Amino acid sequence: MASSKSKNILERLDAGELIIGDGSYIFTLERRGYVKCGHMTPEASVEYPEAVEALAVEYARAGADITQTFTFYSRDIGTPEDVNLTCREINQASCDIAKKVAKKYDTIVAGGIVYTAVFKQTRNKKDVQDELREGLEVLIENDVDLIIVEYFRNIIEMEWALELALSYGKPVAATMCIGPKGDQDGVSAAECGVRMAKAGAKIVGVNCLFDPFITLETVKIMKDGLKAAGLNPYLMCQPLGYRTPDGGSYGWIELPEYPYAVEPRTVTRFEVAKFAREAYDLGVRVIGGCCGMESVHIRAIAEELAEEHGRLPEASRKSDLDLSVLGRKANLGRREYLGKGTKDFWWNLVPATGRPLSASLHRQENPQTVSKSVLN
Ligand SMILES: [Zn+2]
Repeated sequence: MASSKSKNILERLDAGELIIGDGSYIFTLERRGYVKCGHMTPEASVEYPEAVEALAVEYARAGADITQTFTFYSRDIGTPEDVNLTCREINQASCDIAKKVAKKYDTIVAGGIVYTAVFKQTRNKKDVQDELREGLEVLIENDVDLIIVEYFRNIIEMEWALELALSYGKPVAATMCIGPKGDQDGVSAAECGVRMAKAGAKIVGVNCLFDPFITLETVKIMKDGLKAAGLNPYLMCQPLGYRTPDGGSYGWIELPEYPYAVEPRTVTRFEVAKFAREAYDLGVRVIGGCCGMESVHIRAIAEELAEEHGRLPEASRKSDLDLSVLGRKANLGRREYLGKGTKDFWWNLVPATGRPLSASLHRQENPQTVSKSVLN
């Protein structure tokens, strides 16, 4: 076994390391038949632990430094009726899996908490923190290495969550699911970044809801705001694996294709490599993925940034890293492979959808990144 790395993400970032996050769990496991859509609850950790473990292993092999616990994501309507498991039983099984994989692959175990249902109802700090405490306790009992306070749409709730998460003395990262226009109440992305940092988060950024390039736009706004405020936390982003230039204020959730027909919007490995390079150049030092970011995408991040990351992932053994395999096919006179052995070909390719009737954008009522007039 290779020498054990520090499990403290802040120490590693302070040492100049790039940290690669893992990818999509709930959305990927739904597509694989282990999660019921709408519920989006993680009972698979008890029912099909081998499926959850296999996915965590995929990300570790793809180069992820972090293994996230597959703990509760949405409690809006609870688990499906045929599931008789408590939240605690499920979350404990999820922690067991993450710890097992982390031990084998020397990754950082991260546990996440997300926005509460109660915030919408009462906007009461105690109610919110009580609900979040329940989710945090199992993570603390399991001694996770990192708490990710993620998928918050409102900076006020994020501040309450951060106050609680930081009280346990563990490293905390904070990411909001917002676009360039800011949070649910219209608080700018710049101010959200500043307030997360002022609330004590040493790592701030954006996750889910929007595509990689839009996410970078949002992170850039945050970065400029932080700079103007004289703050310098580490930046993090974990975007969707789907293109959403026409996303609404609730990002991809407002697209008609969500959740059952988003596949044509899937990002390619080359788009993700471009995103990873741009993210690194922007100064983002924790780069991973959210819904739809599969192991192929995490591997693309790790390969594009192999030099900065100091290693190639285990799964690169099966990559055509310099495209020489395709190049050899072209050199054999295979016309259909002409040009495919070059990086330029793939980086400049605009993939077709194969659907003659498909439009490039949905006529969104409240587009966040394109002018509404474009969609008329
Ligand atoms: Zn997500």
